[in-house]
Amino acid sequence: MPSNTQGDDSIRNLVIVLGDQLDHHSVALDSFDPSTDTVLMVEVADEAERVWSTKPRIAVFLSAMRHFRDRLRQQGIRVQYRQLDDTDNCGSLRDELRQAIREKQPHKLVVTEPGEWRVQETLRRTAEEMDVALEIRPDRHFLCSRQQFAAHAAGRKRLLMESFYREMRRQNGVLMDGDRPVGGKWNYDAQNRQSFQGGPTGIPAPRSFPPDAVTREVIALVNRRFAIHPGSLERFDWPLTPEQAQEALDDFVESRLSNFGPYQDAMWTDQPYLFHSRLSSAMSLKLLNPRDAIQAAMEAFHGSHAPLNSVEGFVRQILGWREYVRGIYWHYMPQYAEGNAMDAHLPLPGFYWTGETDMSCLQHCIRQTLEYGYAHHIQRLMVTGLFALLLGVIPAEVHRWYLSVYVDAVEWVELPNTLGMSQFADGGIMATKPYCATGKYIQRMSNYCTTCRYDPAKRLGEDACPYTTLYWDFLIRNEARLRATPRMALQLRNLVRLQDDERRSIRKRAGRLQAECTASTDSL
Ligand code: FAD
Ligand code: SF4
Repeated sequence: MPSNTQGDDSIRNLVIVLGDQLDHHSVALDSFDPSTDTVLMVEVADEAERVWSTKPRIAVFLSAMRHFRDRLRQQGIRVQYRQLDDTDNCGSLRDELRQAIREKQPHKLVVTEPGEWRVQETLRRTAEEMDVALEIRPDRHFLCSRQQFAAHAAGRKRLLMESFYREMRRQNGVLMDGDRPVGGKWNYDAQNRQSFQGGPTGIPAPRSFPPDAVTREVIALVNRRFAIHPGSLERFDWPLTPEQAQEALDDFVESRLSNFGPYQDAMWTDQPYLFHSRLSSAMSLKLLNPRDAIQAAMEAFHGSHAPLNSVEGFVRQILGWREYVRGIYWHYMPQYAEGNAMDAHLPLPGFYWTGETDMSCLQHCIRQTLEYGYAHHIQRLMVTGLFALLLGVIPAEVHRWYLSVYVDAVEWVELPNTLGMSQFADGGIMATKPYCATGKYIQRMSNYCTTCRYDPAKRLGEDACPYTTLYWDFLIRNEARLRATPRMALQLRNLVRLQDDERRSIRKRAGRLQAECTASTDSL
């Protein structure tokens, strides 16, 4: 262990590495001096319990952190690591940090920009209370800095993803031919909405990462200490090191990227990943740099291994949506988290924690979520998210659920996706209209309806699809509010055609469904 050249117990920099900052090239480690600096990492029980995290989510964070710690130590970096065990209660980040400051007497705290507004505030306040300097360094993991996003936002009436994305393509020279997009078009959505007519065939299984000794220890701990948390670790096989993240990327580009575009919106029972990349947790933890993912996809295109519609579709998710939601989060926090533009007031149905519902689509998506800690975008947006939107669930409750259940969930990426895109709770900052649809959308994009007792085409009757009833009820309830949303005009015109007695029947059945869902919460 390097000696402390200051001749006392105090250190120069205490470099805080948070659980979603596992980047060996992190800006916080720039000019790290092993003789005077120490890294602080803490497994905080409160982070797993503040929102009721699933076992896969807890295990991903703990195991990736321990792998990161071990690698730092191999590099001769001094790491003060607070590890959870069965009895130890690493309470809150604030308490742990105060203790470390008292012990180490650092001259300065150094941290990369956190992924959560609350954590940033905790660090600021704690540093102030303890009278120690805090340096928050801009996170260069992202292609667009917070300042750059603020400059993009300045003077604009609307902050739409599409204009942001085009600017990012131009600035970074991604899929560009001079000032024009390669292929002449910015987007290939029209080609990218296919479903699997006769069922998916020949989908290569994604590269799997069986638990090593470190992960097995974490799994055992999570199964004991967080035994009552939802979810299972039976199938746990996520990438947890930079090398594994790179292997997962290589595998995706080689075997699934070429079909990613056409089938990115499709869903199928017992096929959680289909042609998706499964890279989100590696990117959320910063094990994988988004530039490497974009570069690999572009090389596949230029080497004719993947078509443009798939490559552009993948690049759009990372260079477009991922960077954009981060910009939105930091631009609008902390008020953003309070949004409830549709004035929704129901609790989250209890079956979101169990999958025990006779709606086949929800049952499959929720059970898959708990089993794998994963659902792909359309399962999140157009099954679990859509149902909560149509039912009228309090957005903050929906947000807490999404933050709890997925292995990739970190607030900067989860909150805008949930509150803005899925629940339209930000009043249209992110989306130009609510993502609302009847059960027929789910029928078109999946095979869930084939085994369901409901009929997606029906809005009334005992076998009417709850999505379809609730869709019409959503339009009735929010008619006045939605008139201000031009892209809802067509849907509202269809609503006008409904007779009064049918409106009343829809409202009545929707009321029953809402009461049943609320009862499922009470019975938990
Ligand atoms: P792919 O479909 O293969 O996409 C490639 C990559 O693009 C992803 O790994 C991810 O890094 C990025 N990406 C794709 N869509 C988005 C998006 N809308 N926003 C930001 N990045 C995107 N993603 C998270 O990483 N963490 C979350 O907590 C999260 N919560 C979500 C909540 C809701 C309600 C919705 C609708 C979406 C959420 N997403 C979240 C976005 C998206 O669903 C996941 O990134 C994606 O499903 C992860 O699977 P994948 O890696 O196979 O992605
Ligand atoms: Fe879901 Fe409705 Fe289809 Fe059943 S019929 S699977 S509830 S969309």
